[in-house]
Amino acid sequence: MTAERRPLRILAVASGKGGVGKSTLSANLAIALHRLGFKVGLVDADIYGPSQARLMGSEDQKPVARDKKLSPVSGVMGIPMLSMAHLVEPGKALAWRGPMVSGALGQLIDADWGDTEWLVVDLPPGTGDIQLSMVQKHKPAGAVIVSTPQDLALIDATRAVSLFAQAGVPMVGLVENMSGYACPHCGEISDPFGQGGAEAAAQDLAMPFLGRIPLAIDIRRRSDAGDPPAAGEGPHADAFRAIAQKVAD
Ligand code: ADP
Repeated sequence: MTAERRPLRILAVASGKGGVGKSTLSANLAIALHRLGFKVGLVDADIYGPSQARLMGSEDQKPVARDKKLSPVSGVMGIPMLSMAHLVEPGKALAWRGPMVSGALGQLIDADWGDTEWLVVDLPPGTGDIQLSMVQKHKPAGAVIVSTPQDLALIDATRAVSLFAQAGVPMVGLVENMSGYACPHCGEISDPFGQGGAEAAAQDLAMPFLGRIPLAIDIRRRSDAGDPPAAGEGPHADAFRAIAQKVAD
């Protein structure tokens, strides 16, 4: 992937199951790509647990519609973003049928993204209506899969991989999140769940391994506070930047 100006390209961030850090990775990846000089936008398509407004510190903003298109709100570092949470009332989304879900996704993707080059799309976990709509209607330029080292998450991740593969969406690569525990006192990484599972799985699936992010209290704290670590300095920011660099290469 190059920095030359092209129409908006979609980078889908997916996982086989919830709670593996897909939203955390999406926000930090968008910020890291922005800091590398790309014009980045962020879509929170996770209808079941939209969290990007909190992660990106934009909870108090509301998008407006101009000429029947939504105008994104502004997240951390001025990154334009839109969330399913802007379109649905909390708790109501689960009753939506496929066409409504797919229509809502269309409103987010076809919003007024201006000169945005890369649209990072945080998908819901699994392989449901939104993922299908994403690959069939919106043709992502690539997909990043997030997994934890545990086997179950990896097995689920391979299902997500096959959904994109069947639709001909190129695999950008796999990220192992919560990979080892970073001690908040000394920074030393220990491996309560083992490590390297995702790297081995990436090899099996013949896709690039993009890197690992440790389980670190600082990542959760800063993310909850709407100030993701990729926006600051330090080892976590470096790790997200290295992943963004591989995505951009
Ligand atoms: P998903 O989008 O896959 O459901 P989230 O990104 O919402 O997962 O993460 C689930 C929870 O785990 C959140 O509270 C988040 O702050 C936390 N989390 C995610 N990645 C890490 C990490 N590397 N270290 C510590 N906490 C993390």
